[in-house]
Amino acid sequence: MAFSFRCASCDEVHYGMPALGAPAPDAWYSLSEHERASRTELSDEECVIDERRFFVRGLYVIPVTGEGEPFCWIVWVECDRDAFRTWLDGYETDDRESLGSLSGRLNSDLPGYAASTLGVPVTVWMQNGGQRPIVLAGDTDHPIAAEQNGISATRLAEIYAVALHG
Ligand SMILES: [Zn+2]
Repeated sequence: MAFSFRCASCDEVHYGMPALGAPAPDAWYSLSEHERASRTELSDEECVIDERRFFVRGLYVIPVTGEGEPFCWIVWVECDRDAFRTWLDGYETDDRESLGSLSGRLNSDLPGYAASTLGVPVTVWMQNGGQRPIVLAGDTDHPIAAEQNGISATRLAEIYAVALHG
């Protein structure tokens, strides 16, 4: 059975376990259209600003009690140049897992949290088989870290209502 819930926001039933997230890092949105065109490179999986800020995309996985599949935030992680090089090396190898992990900070301001998720320290674990990397919380007491131990379906419904309707 796919996840479904009656939305507190619009009173409709929403179905499915979609992954939610913005198509660009927060830092990209803070630039004007002209600046984006001249100073940034953006693809589905990575973003570079001014050739000195580096962002990669991964899945912040949150298990949901009683559900077979987890909920995923699709997040952007800002990392340093060396880590970004490791990321680029991933395109050269089939065994991306052998590259291990890279450290960075969330550059996605996710809805549904009392405190901003910008800057939360995370670790990005490369995956094989063309899968998006898995993002795990680092050493932080931000509530999104504890959510990686699992959330209730009620909390997921709350996240969905906020993410779908603002
Ligand atoms: Zn709704």
